[in-house]
Amino acid sequence: MPVRVVLPLALLLVGLGPAQGRQVCLVDQAGLSPPALGSFYREFQTLVGPRGLELAESECEPEAIRLSLYRRAQGHDADVLGAARRESSKIAPRLEIYIDPIVELLPESHCWNTVGRAVARVAAHEVAHFFDQDQRHSEAGLLRVRFSGAQLASDDSYAFRWIPAEH
Ligand SMILES: [Zn+2]
Repeated sequence: MPVRVVLPLALLLVGLGPAQGRQVCLVDQAGLSPPALGSFYREFQTLVGPRGLELAESECEPEAIRLSLYRRAQGHDADVLGAARRESSKIAPRLEIYIDPIVELLPESHCWNTVGRAVARVAAHEVAHFFDQDQRHSEAGLLRVRFSGAQLASDDSYAFRWIPAEH
């Protein structure tokens, strides 16, 4: 039975300028292991690379999307996997991913390759909300409202393909 996990997000449907938000900076406050980070980079690039997004290798440009990894959200949202929040009228380019609740969902949390890949999938989901400036979800694909641990752990990335949210 799939585990129900809510991925909260923020609202709004405002377009971005063509040069904005193409670079993604990873700010790892959670201390992922190097093998998990390697796996994260591979899967993240697979999922969002076709949209022209790329992870910064070193310096973070001021207009970059900032993707922060934390152990867990604070307060009421302790089992949330990730968040894309609204600032004034737009979804802000500051996204948060929470590692511990992701690991707890996985059937094989000891495998760092699987952990890194699962974190990348949640991160790509939040990036898609920002990139599309759209809080909606779809029945299938990357913008599914919930993921099961089995989906997050799967060797196959097909369930996470980036398709438009349903109206
Ligand atoms: Zn979402």
